[in-house]
Amino acid sequence: MSLNKKSVDDFNAKGRRVLVRCDFNVPLKDGVITDETRINAALPTINKLIADGAKVILCSHLGKVKEGPNEKESLAPVAKRLSEKLGKEVVFVADYNVTGEAATAAVAAMNEGDVVLLQNTRFRGKEETKPQEAGEKFAEELAALADDYVCDAFGSAHRAHASVAVVTKYISAKGGVNAVGYLMQKEIDFLGNAVENPVRPFVAILGGAKVADKLNVINNLLEKCDTLIIGGGMAFTFLKAQGNEIGKSLVDDEKLDYCKEMIAKAESLGKKLLLPVDTTIAASFPDPIDGPIEVSVVDANAIPADMEGLDIGPKTAELYADAVKNAKTVVWNGPMGVFENPTLAKGTIAVAKALAETDATTIIGGGDSAAAVNQLGFADKMSHISTGGGASLEFLEGKELPGVYAADDK
Ligand code: ATP
Repeated sequence: MSLNKKSVDDFNAKGRRVLVRCDFNVPLKDGVITDETRINAALPTINKLIADGAKVILCSHLGKVKEGPNEKESLAPVAKRLSEKLGKEVVFVADYNVTGEAATAAVAAMNEGDVVLLQNTRFRGKEETKPQEAGEKFAEELAALADDYVCDAFGSAHRAHASVAVVTKYISAKGGVNAVGYLMQKEIDFLGNAVENPVRPFVAILGGAKVADKLNVINNLLEKCDTLIIGGGMAFTFLKAQGNEIGKSLVDDEKLDYCKEMIAKAESLGKKLLLPVDTTIAASFPDPIDGPIEVSVVDANAIPADMEGLDIGPKTAELYADAVKNAKTVVWNGPMGVFENPTLAKGTIAVAKALAETDATTIIGGGDSAAAVNQLGFADKMSHISTGGGASLEFLEGKELPGVYAADDK
């Protein structure tokens, strides 16, 4: 799928002040970045703009900032690490106001090819656009620092936030360009091609906790794929909808009719819908989540009333791995079981391994499945691991992302 939006290749950035919205929302432990994936993913666009002779002004959110601006959620560690990776100074504007005097002065002092990183955008409010006036004002202030704008924050592209979407209005008003970066292009190429133009057979695998979280994804993917595989906690609502006893397993009782509808839809479209044939059960959910747990395996239609299904069983793992073997395109979102526990990670590992071994184009939809693939050391075997869990899910639902549609058309 080619994106009909202006990219960093479509305008001359030399000498221009270019505001780049990145996704530097990295995990931090005691001030140390524990996973640099998102920083690495932002480098191609930043390097391109430096090489073009732009004045590169970076911004991003970090964390949830539930209790207002604080040093623990400052972007300072990102500035330091980014500077090491770029091999040049990244001037960090530590001011909690993000925009304002300090930012304006730092930008005024820039030469071509210089890089400035602004403070955590969430320091200006939880959702940035709430209240609306605050979001508008912040977006206007951000735009005032720059001539052009580049959105490369795929992980935030599903949010119509000030720094993701609203800012484009003010850049346009003064004749500037709004473009997308290389990461956005790459994410949309992979996810878009998989969904809209897949090499078939196209197998979609969905797992995770609740059916309710993925209603639209199930519905949309069922129309696009050849085989839809369901695992994880959400599988039990499907099993119950088929009339099985599911014991104490996770269930969305309100979604039983929906599951029946999806089963019927698969049948009428001639699509394969694979559900677990066996499951790994325990007396209760592990506490702590990674603590020791006694398990056994039963057929999916024979779960005792006092037991809970916490992973797909070995027969199911084999069935799912087989389906992946013959695929040419695979999209995976959500773990097959409580993968945080080593005893209950077998199903997720089996699926990850099947994806690692196939020649198909394999796309991991971010979030927990990306974490699982990374933890298991299969990351370099996948064609693409999305940097945005929520954004990739909304994309798979068929929704347009605000961070994409706010960019100028080509
Ligand atoms: P994210 O929201 O981060 O993108 P995701 O979409 O990959 O994650 P979620 O829907 O959040 O997945 O669900 C992941 C959670 O589901 C994991 O914490 C896992 O332990 C849990 N889970 C998986 N299978 C089961 C099960 N059978 N019973 C209960 N919980 C389960």
